[in-house]
Amino acid sequence: MSAAKSTKLSKPKPKSKTRHWRALDAAHHIHPFTETRSLVAEGVRVITRAKGIYIWDSDGKKLIDGMSGLWCVQLGYGNRELAKAGCDALNTLPYYNHFFKTTNPWTAELSAKLTKLTPKGHDRVLFANSGSEANDTALKLIRYYWNLMGKRDKKIHLSRASSYHGVTMATASLSGLTPMHPQWDLPLPGFAKAPTPYWYGAKEGGYGDVTPDEFGIAIARATEQIIQEIGPDRIASFSAEPVQGAGGLIVPPSSYWPEMARICKKHDILLHTDEVVTGFGRLGSWFGSEAYGLEPDIMTMAKGLSSGYQPISAVSLGKRMGDAIAGAEEELVHGYTYSGHPVASAVALKNLEILERERIVSRVKKRIGPYFQHRLRETFEDHPLIGEVRGIGMLGAMEMVADKNTRRHFEKLGHAGMICRDHCFHNGLIMRAIRDTMVLAPPLVIAEEEVEKLLVKAKLCLDMTARDLGVR
Ligand SMILES: *Cc1c(COP(=O)(O)O)cnc(C)c1O
Repeated sequence: MSAAKSTKLSKPKPKSKTRHWRALDAAHHIHPFTETRSLVAEGVRVITRAKGIYIWDSDGKKLIDGMSGLWCVQLGYGNRELAKAGCDALNTLPYYNHFFKTTNPWTAELSAKLTKLTPKGHDRVLFANSGSEANDTALKLIRYYWNLMGKRDKKIHLSRASSYHGVTMATASLSGLTPMHPQWDLPLPGFAKAPTPYWYGAKEGGYGDVTPDEFGIAIARATEQIIQEIGPDRIASFSAEPVQGAGGLIVPPSSYWPEMARICKKHDILLHTDEVVTGFGRLGSWFGSEAYGLEPDIMTMAKGLSSGYQPISAVSLGKRMGDAIAGAEEELVHGYTYSGHPVASAVALKNLEILERERIVSRVKKRIGPYFQHRLRETFEDHPLIGEVRGIGMLGAMEMVADKNTRRHFEKLGHAGMICRDHCFHNGLIMRAIRDTMVLAPPLVIAEEEVEKLLVKAKLCLDMTARDLGVR
């Protein structure tokens, strides 16, 4: 028997292939943010290919990816130019580092390109491989900056409830999503929390009947109160996502950011914006900081930087931190083996080139973003299960409640979300459930007709969920 023939004969049929991969995975692969035992019992979904806004599983089932993977595939799947950029770099310089007074063409060009897109004064960048690493790096640089300034008491990192900044020891401590803490005895000392401007929950939070703008100011003032209690001289930084992603898509009232920026400046607290979700056009601007008129001292970015095609992240420094750190008369004792990896840099560089050339950020601002927001509200605002529809740019969320009039949540928070998410899977849509809030973050290149297809599926699934929960 020829080798070719035997390969052909042993090729498993699609269904048995799925079984094969499921068995391997169940026996050996521990998944992130997953209860292993129940996944093994249920059987994992094997994703084998993707194109545009669609992904396919190993049984040939096609799904609309309403989440761009994990908020990252700005250009959609199957972009040939990105693939070629990576392939060319792989063929030319598959690896070299930046430790030994060396750089490579792609990382040098990417640095320059990024600093053109980031806010004024951000002229210097460092690279890492993930959002967590970028934020971890940011916290170290913040400490270093204050040490260089001789303000050694400024050590506390302030961040917000429901925030998500990553999973390392420090960035999980920085995260305000409290379920991330007990397994690891976190938070570490030196991390403090402020409230988040979640207006829909204002009443539950004891703020009574307030307008969004009143609430934005109230939350900023409550933050200042916390700063006063700790002592401004002890607070190094305030870290925040311009719009909170994984915490439930919390879009701040317009009064919040100007007031928070004022408070940070007044108390000489470094403003760190975590742009891992909000960067690279997601809000219709290059960065969320730009959308909210912020002048961050330090910014972190990942996800959309390479449209998720390669693991790469970056930290950009505003003038004050950039001058101090680049001007220090000593070695910067920090860096990763893969910081500014040539292949990842080449893909990120091409990704930025395409975002610019195709005017994708301005398309989100002027056309597809407003269209998506309008249609989302039109479709769901009167839905009996939906308490609030919120969003900005290509981020959308529908918060499910037991009683729309009183904003009463379901008793068992997260249950409705799980029901809806399962309906979505079965009906060919990836929509993320954060507690009982269903979140959408489709690729920025999604077409109007594709938005319609997505919304038809989303509506069907929310109707099915309402029926299951007896909400009408
Ligand atoms: C995803 C995310 C991170 C962590 O990024 P990883 O690449 O998963 O480490 C940090 N901050 C925000 C806002 C994120 O959404």
